[in-house]
Amino acid sequence: MKEVALNQNQFFEVEKITNGSYHPLSGFMTENEFYSVIDNYILPDGRLFSMPIFLDISKESANDLKINSNVKLLYDDNLIGEMLVESIFSCDKKKCAKKIYGTDDIQHPGVNAFYKTKEVFIGGRVAIKKRILHELSRYELTPSQTKAIFKEKKWNTVAAFHTRNPPHCAHEWLQRMTLESYDGLLIQPILGQKKPGDFLPMAVINGYQFLISKYYPRNRVILSALTTSGRYAGPREALFHALVRRNYGCTHIIIGRDHAGVNNYYDIYDSQNLCTKYEDALGIKIIKYKEPYYCSICNTITNKSACRHISSDPDSIEYISSTKIRSLLLAGLRPPPYVMRPEVIEAIYSNNMFVPE
Ligand SMILES: [Zn+2]
Repeated sequence: MKEVALNQNQFFEVEKITNGSYHPLSGFMTENEFYSVIDNYILPDGRLFSMPIFLDISKESANDLKINSNVKLLYDDNLIGEMLVESIFSCDKKKCAKKIYGTDDIQHPGVNAFYKTKEVFIGGRVAIKKRILHELSRYELTPSQTKAIFKEKKWNTVAAFHTRNPPHCAHEWLQRMTLESYDGLLIQPILGQKKPGDFLPMAVINGYQFLISKYYPRNRVILSALTTSGRYAGPREALFHALVRRNYGCTHIIIGRDHAGVNNYYDIYDSQNLCTKYEDALGIKIIKYKEPYYCSICNTITNKSACRHISSDPDSIEYISSTKIRSLLLAGLRPPPYVMRPEVIEAIYSNNMFVPE
């Protein structure tokens, strides 16, 4: 049997496909599925899916593969599973990038990563033979585990909070608002492949573990990592995030302003609008809060529903972003306490906080 060696990112994808995170997928996308998803946000059978999930391999490795043959999947020299090769294809990456990301600009980190994928894609069902634990496995729950926990806790409503950063005060405000209205909160940071300058996984985990263990009500908040890569695909990826959280048993998901966006590639409400449009097909409800900010007159985190100064004294308003926090920390400075709790900074601070440039 031929073999395909997976990189970490591809291994994470196999894990998600086989544990139900990417339901209804049961394998890497075939050519049909790939184009159906990037053109119409649906699989050929009509079910909603938004992000292409593909396995890229080199031309040389593809040469001796045959349709309808099984290949062994290897990771770190371990045999982890098998794949039935149902489709072998390549695509015009510029054209496809435009469809997936809305741009073919190589400066866009998602497009850039897509251009770097290998020439040939293979699609087909995958089966895992042996679960390999990795350094982040102990922070991860599978969809069947989270569903069992929600059931045991008798939570009727569970809101998902997606992030890729340690918690700042505006995140905290959103999470507290959510705890007011929903039975449980699943905080699920994505900790897969990231771009240079992003927070490393342990900074995110340490920040949240501190907040949850010291501040949030006992038994109302669950932290579970999701090892998948950030794709920076804006609205299309927001839809994917919602779909995945539905698979984890969440009834609601908070979709932020410019959710999964990067720089100024997407309009700030595109993600919320697209998710709302597909809400019924998604099977998870979208929570849209007006964006929180720090108001120096109110002297608190608030938003325009609760503070008048955004129009009368716009200079008193400061939006809080992880990008700003990262640049302060990189410059050796500490964000002020109304931006990030000093104890959270302490919990995440190390010489090894960021993905190296
Ligand atoms: Zn105010």
